[in-house]
Amino acid sequence: MKKLGFGFMRLPLIPGGGEGDIDIKQAKAMVDMFLSEGFTYFDTAHGYMGEKCEAALKTCLTERYPRSAYVLADKLTDDYFSKREDIMPFFENQLKECGVDYFDYYLLHSITKNNYGKFISCGAFDFLGEIKADGRARHIGISFHDKADMLRDVLTAHPEIEVVQIQFNYADYDSPSVESGDVYRVCSEFGKKVLVMEPVKGGVLASLPEKAAEVLDSLGGGSQASYAIRFAAGYDRVLVVLSGMSDISQMKDNLSYMKDFVPLSAEELDAIGKVNELLKDDDAIPCTACRYCVKGCPMSIRIPDLFSCMNCKRRYNDWNSDFYYEVSTQGFGRASECIECGKCEETCPQHLPIRELLRTVAAEFEKKTAD
Ligand code: SF4
Ligand code: SF4
Repeated sequence: MKKLGFGFMRLPLIPGGGEGDIDIKQAKAMVDMFLSEGFTYFDTAHGYMGEKCEAALKTCLTERYPRSAYVLADKLTDDYFSKREDIMPFFENQLKECGVDYFDYYLLHSITKNNYGKFISCGAFDFLGEIKADGRARHIGISFHDKADMLRDVLTAHPEIEVVQIQFNYADYDSPSVESGDVYRVCSEFGKKVLVMEPVKGGVLASLPEKAAEVLDSLGGGSQASYAIRFAAGYDRVLVVLSGMSDISQMKDNLSYMKDFVPLSAEELDAIGKVNELLKDDDAIPCTACRYCVKGCPMSIRIPDLFSCMNCKRRYNDWNSDFYYEVSTQGFGRASECIECGKCEETCPQHLPIRELLRTVAAEFEKKTAD
């Protein structure tokens, strides 16, 4: 299997549309291009794109291609069950929404210290065993967003887990908060295959600050994203690197270097090391725009969009960021309207201090209001 997967979570949107207004025509063209170049792996989850992703996957992929043409992964997210009896109907509905009889991979979604107990008490691991036994999941696993020690505990308690999906990119490799490198080493210790998510850190590594960008430009080759994706794909245990491609040009770029994948050379790895040093001096908010925090916010604050405005302002000090701050808050909550309930921080896989960061965002963009 080729090492690039199509993450069905950041699909192209109809111009001017909101989350869930998927540009189906373009998404179909992307699926066609992906398959025609020999790639097969697709990943989704019920909550992606305003819960419209699975239906889009059916329209763009499963209704149009034979089951043998693709490998499909889906997930059980803890938002969608509160007791054991909720899980099977939810799963069966996912099969229906996706238009398939089985998933090649089925994962417990985004396991952290906060929700691990719920997965256990609701029998989610036993459920994985059931669907593996009856053939509706060919392989079972978890997607994981916590520290290496915790992963060791999970894999010790659940040797039946076959694959682990982890956040893995060069910027997080030695990060004390994400521990990508250590988490990968635990997967290796337990002999698990690895599925990589966030290889470009939610787009951060495809939009580097100027000095870091110059380092990669001096290599005279690929896009910034290409180095990040090839970095992750270069690890032996990695089965597939997921890329949440958002338009056909991103897809063309990804396919160009992943069709005949070559790991990074010594010179390229050295450049990545330099980029990492420069990123350590960058004070951008490390939000990956996964949007897990948005759904539960009682004040309808579009948290990742506001963090993106803040990062642009810090990096480029441009007036455009102020404009986009106003756009992002039209009809939605402003940073200053956060009531500090903390719900968002419970779901953030990056463990960001969102409340504190929103105070900084409000101080930056709402100066006039405050004056
Ligand atoms: S802490 Fe603020 S941003 Fe987070 S969910 Fe509550 S109101 Fe929304
Ligand atoms: S703040 Fe956290 S949960 Fe929200 S989009 Fe960013 S990384 Fe995801």
